[in-house]
Amino acid sequence: MTPAVPVGALELAAAVRAGEVSATDAVEVALGAIEAHDGELHCFNTVTAEAARARARAVDERRRAGEPLGPLAGVPVALKDNLCTRGVETTCSSRILAGWRPPYDATVVEKVLAAGAVPVGKTNLDEFAMGSSTENSATGPTRNPWDRSRVPGGSSGGSAAAVAAGLVPLALGSDTGGSIRQPAALCGVVGIKPTYGLVSRYGLIAFASSLDQVGPFAATVADAAALLEAIAGHDPRDSTSLERPAPSLVGRLGEGVGGLRVGVVADFLADASPTCAAAVGAGAEALAAAGARVEEVAIPELLDGLAAYYLLAPAEASSNLARYDGVRYGLRVDAEEVAAMNARTRAAGFGAEVKRRIMLGTYVLSAGYYDAYYAQAQRVRTRIIQAFARAYAEVDVLLAPTTPSVAFELGAKLDDPLEMYLSDLFTIPTNLAGHPAVSVPFALGEEGLPVGLQVLAPALGEAAMCRTAAVLEEAAAPGARGPVGATREGAR
Ligand code: GLN
Repeated sequence: MTPAVPVGALELAAAVRAGEVSATDAVEVALGAIEAHDGELHCFNTVTAEAARARARAVDERRRAGEPLGPLAGVPVALKDNLCTRGVETTCSSRILAGWRPPYDATVVEKVLAAGAVPVGKTNLDEFAMGSSTENSATGPTRNPWDRSRVPGGSSGGSAAAVAAGLVPLALGSDTGGSIRQPAALCGVVGIKPTYGLVSRYGLIAFASSLDQVGPFAATVADAAALLEAIAGHDPRDSTSLERPAPSLVGRLGEGVGGLRVGVVADFLADASPTCAAAVGAGAEALAAAGARVEEVAIPELLDGLAAYYLLAPAEASSNLARYDGVRYGLRVDAEEVAAMNARTRAAGFGAEVKRRIMLGTYVLSAGYYDAYYAQAQRVRTRIIQAFARAYAEVDVLLAPTTPSVAFELGAKLDDPLEMYLSDLFTIPTNLAGHPAVSVPFALGEEGLPVGLQVLAPALGEAAMCRTAAVLEEAAAPGARGPVGATREGAR
């Protein structure tokens, strides 16, 4: 017997606090949906059913004892498998970390627990978060719940698909160049990449440390904003953490966009598919109708972001991934000597894309090439930051497509890394600048698949960004957003 459990996170938490629904029932619904549908979708690497049940019972105990419950009381949440969870396998979907159980929780995991949410498992990703389709995973690809012959995007594809399929109301991902926003767009859910430093990276397994940021997925802007409020705030264990409290977002979503200055990034439209470009025009009209002052802006520098990113991110990755040496973590392939053991372990443990990034990164950092590649890319990064600053002198937020296309077929870009990299053309500049951005489902595009719109803001501009996204959400085409239900008609 399935109890009636609200689908939305905030609604569910309110029902749990009011005693209308138990956390235990909410968790059983999530576990049941995972059991029924994850065999085919493969959103999860690990399901922590017993820990989730125990955690839910503890929430229900607290309620019975009259103790205060958190803002996300009893809400099932999925965690990207690059977030450390104490005693629970954390693999980054890599063979090299298979079987590794961290001795500690990431700060964001501690924070979701403190908010009363109930982690139900670890979600699939492109190995070490390198990719845009969740196909670069040692555990196999995740499928898009809207069309199972297609990718969910990546690298946080498991988290995006789990929310889109209605398996969980909330999920956490990480975004280094688009890995929250791109899969959110391809799966018809909301995904937020917060300002660099707003959310702690302690316990997020590093890919490119100057770009990485943890953020939320949810079906609605309000639910995503609530999860962001729960995970944000200063953490002394992350030296890049900002010394400021979590922002108040949910309470101000209804304030609208009257008088807000919105710039439409004209430079991206030529590289977007017809429906992705058309959605930007329709979004701009919706914002204007709601009282925003909308204008086109030209920021051609943003198109150089992709090239700079594919020097900087591999450079940082080559350094960060040096620690997987067969001694300290996970896999070890034995040999007569240490150096041979290191080499064999890395050869067997890393997949092809990760090896490509390590080689690229090592090359661009090597003596004689450093200035031509790494230093040059840093200069481009500075130009992009300056270009954004010029734009934000004129407008409060920017509107852009999230992705160049709707979800593509499994396998379509696997043999062509450059094509895969182009998936993040519109999302990468945000990471280079350390700014926040959100993807919100807005339209149905080619093949009836979801199209996301991206709202970008200057550092710490989350409040205006979320209000803008809330207006777009109201104006979205019917049926443009998840959950689609894993049994959606016509799903292949
Ligand atoms: N797709 C991009 C990459 O492969 C971004 C990944 C991410 O944001 N983690 O590097």
